[in-house]
Amino acid sequence: MSSATFFRRAVLASTSLTLLTAHADAPPVARLGNAVVPTQYRIELAIDPAKESFSGNVVIDVTLNAARDAIWLHGRNLQVSEVFLTDRDAKRIDATYEEWHDSGVALISLSRAAAAGPAKLHLAYRAPFNTAANALYKVESGGLPYAVTQFEPIAARQVFPGFDEPGFKVPFELAIVAREGDVAVTTTPEVSAEDLGEGRVRHVFARTRPLPTYLIAFAVGPYDVVDYGMIPANPVRQHGLALRGIAAKGQGERMQYALRNTAGLLAVLEDYFGTPYPYEKLDLIAVPEGFGGAMENVGAITYDEYLLLMDDDAPVDQRRDYTAVHAHEMAHMWFGNLVTPEWWNDIWLNESFATWIMHKASHRYWPEGEFDRSTLKGALGAMANDSLAAARQIREPVNHNDQIAGAFDGITYQKGGGMLAMLERYVGEEQFQAGIRLHLQRNRHGTATAEDFIASVAEGSGRPEIGSAFHAFIGQPGVPLVSVSLDCSDGGNPRLDVRQARYAPLGSSIRADDSEWKIPFCAAYAADGTRKATCALLAEKRQSVPLEARSCPTVVHPNADGAGYYRFTLDEAGWRSLIAGAAGLGAAEALVLGDSLDAAFRAGAIPAELYVSGLAALAHHGAWDVTIAATQYLEGITGIFDEAPLRTVEPALRRIVAPRYAEIGAGADSGTELLRKNLQRFLIVIAKDQTLRKPLADQAAAVIGLHRDPDPSAAPMSEWETIFSVGVQDIGEPFFDLLLKQAVESDDAAFRLAAAGALARVEDPSLVRKLQAAILADSFKGTEMVGVVFRQMGRPATREATYAWLRQNDEAIIGMFPETFRSAIVPALGGAFCSNERAGEWQAFVSSHAGLIPGYERRLAQAVESIQLCAALKESSSSNLVSAFTHYPHRH
Ligand SMILES: [Zn+2]
Repeated sequence: MSSATFFRRAVLASTSLTLLTAHADAPPVARLGNAVVPTQYRIELAIDPAKESFSGNVVIDVTLNAARDAIWLHGRNLQVSEVFLTDRDAKRIDATYEEWHDSGVALISLSRAAAAGPAKLHLAYRAPFNTAANALYKVESGGLPYAVTQFEPIAARQVFPGFDEPGFKVPFELAIVAREGDVAVTTTPEVSAEDLGEGRVRHVFARTRPLPTYLIAFAVGPYDVVDYGMIPANPVRQHGLALRGIAAKGQGERMQYALRNTAGLLAVLEDYFGTPYPYEKLDLIAVPEGFGGAMENVGAITYDEYLLLMDDDAPVDQRRDYTAVHAHEMAHMWFGNLVTPEWWNDIWLNESFATWIMHKASHRYWPEGEFDRSTLKGALGAMANDSLAAARQIREPVNHNDQIAGAFDGITYQKGGGMLAMLERYVGEEQFQAGIRLHLQRNRHGTATAEDFIASVAEGSGRPEIGSAFHAFIGQPGVPLVSVSLDCSDGGNPRLDVRQARYAPLGSSIRADDSEWKIPFCAAYAADGTRKATCALLAEKRQSVPLEARSCPTVVHPNADGAGYYRFTLDEAGWRSLIAGAAGLGAAEALVLGDSLDAAFRAGAIPAELYVSGLAALAHHGAWDVTIAATQYLEGITGIFDEAPLRTVEPALRRIVAPRYAEIGAGADSGTELLRKNLQRFLIVIAKDQTLRKPLADQAAAVIGLHRDPDPSAAPMSEWETIFSVGVQDIGEPFFDLLLKQAVESDDAAFRLAAAGALARVEDPSLVRKLQAAILADSFKGTEMVGVVFRQMGRPATREATYAWLRQNDEAIIGMFPETFRSAIVPALGGAFCSNERAGEWQAFVSSHAGLIPGYERRLAQAVESIQLCAALKESSSSNLVSAFTHYPHRH
């Protein structure tokens, strides 16, 4: 980035700057330091969502640690009309306010120095509503405007000036002036409402507990408020807790499912932490249009509508997402909110923990949902990114505001969650829980670092040695690869010869031997007629692990129960015996087998025929999620094919998956429903099964009412996206037009999601142009267009047309992506290319938009590397793989 953007505003505009001391020359583009610290905020905002801007009045109590005439703080796009400081003697000192850096670093320059000690900063300002799902932004539902916030990580500074860092935790006193009839919701309960006349009401809210800026939230507008009464007391919480649902007008009644299931999920968390929900009330806000997720604002959690608005018979995917995400956000009330990271380099602590416990809590609340393998599946998913030379470590230094958003990625969430699962298993479930409780007790209403966390777990669990193993995993990137071979040369004393290195796929620049971990390693094996397991802490590059067996094992699985964050590889005989027994493996071991097998093929370590046989064996595994994972590897690996070879392998994909689909029973449990939906989608969309497709076009037409009145019962809602895709591709324009119209007009987020997913699979060039026009006309609500653009870029049939459209409309399209995640989204869009030529082009294209996507560098390096790895794999393995598929089933 050029220095021109660092110093956007002229320094010389203010005469008071002659008083600046040297420390004020360069804006602090990361931490502000402790020379001036806030102790309390009083904020009054006037918010009318029908207008284009809002206004604020802020008084920040601060402590000056020395006499000073300049104060750095955060503020962005604030048009300040008044600013002054009152010193410790309550004397007024005039001041000016200047924004110095695009990331929201501002300077208050005093007309004379203020003495050390307490002081108050006073600012009055106006600011525009944000339009890209960030800061305080406007959305529309049913023709009515609403305002709502999303502050994490650093957007609070666009709404009020302050010390916008997680480490500054202080109380807030908030008041909101709103239109008469509008609802105003924030962190704490409302304590009074005053009629100001002229259709305006001043809502005053209770003082908050100590909080960082990023956890404050507001929602103002004609919302429905569903008062759900009190969540009753339980063994951990002696008092009731007020629960409400907030949704766009007319949508409140669709919150019953989400509200009804809250008490039970919350009780699981309270039981785990051994302390009650730490705040005064709980509001669940269904954000009209959605913003791409959910946010753990204290007392006022925001969610995409899709995550909260559903009925009891909603598709199982949607109810699972609600359950897990709701558990995640509520868990943050303790982990993240009650105890907050001191700085963004430790945001992984928040997100790893919430990711890990959301599955644990969901599984306890809904055991039939089988969430117990979800953390493992997430960690395996993160390994693709962690296999890149440009991967980041979990605990990554953050030395610039522009790097903060980049810390929210799969490494922070899913790899981190996998780390905690591994740590828990290593110290024991109860011991780990004791460590967590100790950590919360020690740091309540304060902040903590990774060191504090590890110390708490070490002390609480009584395992002081865990620190070094844990630091090796959070302090370096990469996936450990454990190579295992069975040594039965010493008759009755079989051993495993185990070597560790960093996993590197074909074409990678990773130097595999440069990394070293302390790996909690467990192998399962069949010997002496029974299943056994042996564990060891691998602390050396090469180690011999004795097995507790009298005879040579017939099969070895080098990651027992899938408990370790590592991949394994075997000699060919070892792979073959493991695959031959795949059907008998537990689901977790089958899942890690799938990952290690896929990784071995991508590293050029196993023949294509063995790889295809292995995936086929896993596709026939009895556990629903193992089969789904196998189809995902099949879908992923066919991404290296151009259109022609893809056509030749499609029959083999059907031969592998169709028999399993035919076996699925009529059961309506969670796993069966997911399996049916995923295999149907795979066979129809990926493997192009024409016999399955035929009846679906008619069903799709019936659901949306192409020929007569719409009949939503013509197909289960969980299958709508797939059947709509068939409608879009096989019926064409009339279906496409009607589905697009209904998606634009619908207030049902789940329907819109299914429709958008199907519309994005359009292939007819003239309809692709229509879709592109609809995106640019802002026809998709909230962040829904992001998925549409990704899918059009991801599919070979539409990739080039989408790329051309993106180049022509670059700034308009980039501007539509949610502000917080632009630097992640834009580089990743090119991730599906698979040639070195495109890698270079993509590098140039994204870099040329650097000014719009600060902090994009690492994501671009990762995207370009992924393209190059794909090209290398295609070059080396494409023809072997086509041959292995076309000869499936293989004969030996
Ligand atoms: Zn989170």
